[in-house]
Amino acid sequence: MIARLTVDEAADVSRRHRVTLYKALQAKELHGTQRIKRGKWLIEPDCLGAWIANRQCPHAAVTDLGAYRAGRGRSA
Ligand SMILES: [Zn+2]
Repeated sequence: MIARLTVDEAADVSRRHRVTLYKALQAKELHGTQRIKRGKWLIEPDCLGAWIANRQCPHAAVTDLGAYRAGRGRSA
């Protein structure tokens, strides 16, 4: 299994600001998962690559809606 990236790591790789990453995660433009509500986001490298290239990710079908919803509602 490929290690997933934290937001800080993803921001570094993508050269975007981490707030931009959080907004993309919350808008579901970028896929990420949270182990617990309001916990640390983890991002699949493939999803990050797709987001940077402005492509739709291979597994665009969201499987972890609960985690996405949990990340919304409070702005960073
Ligand atoms: Zn994805």
